[in-house]
Amino acid sequence: MTGAVSPSAGALLEVRDLARVFRVRRTGSLFAKPAALHAVDGVSFSLAPGRTLGLVGESGCGKTTTARVVLGLLSATAGEVRFEGAAVPPPGTSAWRAARRRMQMVFQDPLGALDRRIPVGAQVMEPLAIHGMADKQGRRERALALLDAVGLAQSFFTRYPHELSGGQRQRIVLARALILEPSLLVCDEPISSLDVSIQAQVVNLLIDLQQRFQLAYLFISHDLKVVRQISHEVAVMYLGRIVEHGEAELLLREPAHPYTRALISAIPTAAAARRRPILILNGDPPNPVDRPAGCAFHPRCAAAVARCRVDLPALKPLPDGRLVACHVAHGETMADRVAA
Ligand code: SF4
Repeated sequence: MTGAVSPSAGALLEVRDLARVFRVRRTGSLFAKPAALHAVDGVSFSLAPGRTLGLVGESGCGKTTTARVVLGLLSATAGEVRFEGAAVPPPGTSAWRAARRRMQMVFQDPLGALDRRIPVGAQVMEPLAIHGMADKQGRRERALALLDAVGLAQSFFTRYPHELSGGQRQRIVLARALILEPSLLVCDEPISSLDVSIQAQVVNLLIDLQQRFQLAYLFISHDLKVVRQISHEVAVMYLGRIVEHGEAELLLREPAHPYTRALISAIPTAAAARRRPILILNGDPPNPVDRPAGCAFHPRCAAAVARCRVDLPALKPLPDGRLVACHVAHGETMADRVAA
């Protein structure tokens, strides 16, 4: 199998050179000028209908900010988001609301996403009412059909969120997201708050719904085991940038970037089946306000060479087609290894 990522022709979602900068105050310096925090910096990817792109990386790497900018919940500092062949309109406009109908989000905490005072059936129907779609009977029939699609009996229609388990609540959230017939679901850690025993059921449901409704998923997770199950492609983010992007099977089997290798080595496996040692990263991620020069990963990278301290590696293809931002992976070291 080739590791090449899908071409953008026929893409449902196209993100080009996306950037989002926050102005933040440095801790301990009350009178200092706000500093620039580059939460998302030059992120590009495309996503075809019916496919899943797993977006992975440590907390604070920019995964959720990328998703929020894609959906227009945060403005972009630079770059472009195109959806269904057109630039996403400015947030708040009627054209944006029409586009957002087709791009829905599933959050980490299903209880927080639901109103505890309202029966779940009314909450599933609510988006139709907000968008003025269907009459009362039509909304009810559509909601009941979606309860069925997410594996819940019709009796759930009149129940309240607090009466349901975490997995059942996430099924309700999915039913509500699907009622507007989206083509893209942005799933931000959708199973991380669920019991481990329930997580596999919800992942299987997501896979089933994708095939049934030809949905594309932008699937954000720090759990690479789950990402492996559901993703066609994987993009790895580090300090606001994509450092590796390719077909999931190849990238997770033979990671090319040292950061990806470290993430994958930490996936729990049965001890007997483990072939690779866990790669321990040096220290915590740097403060994104003071991003290191050159490759931002160099202070933690066991493979770093002198060039890594000064030259930012470009994200470009390896012969197998995947994209990697690493001088060493591209054989462009031109210097000795940095002493650890
Ligand atoms: Fe490590 Fe250098 Fe590659 Fe960055 S460019 S990941 S520091 S080897």
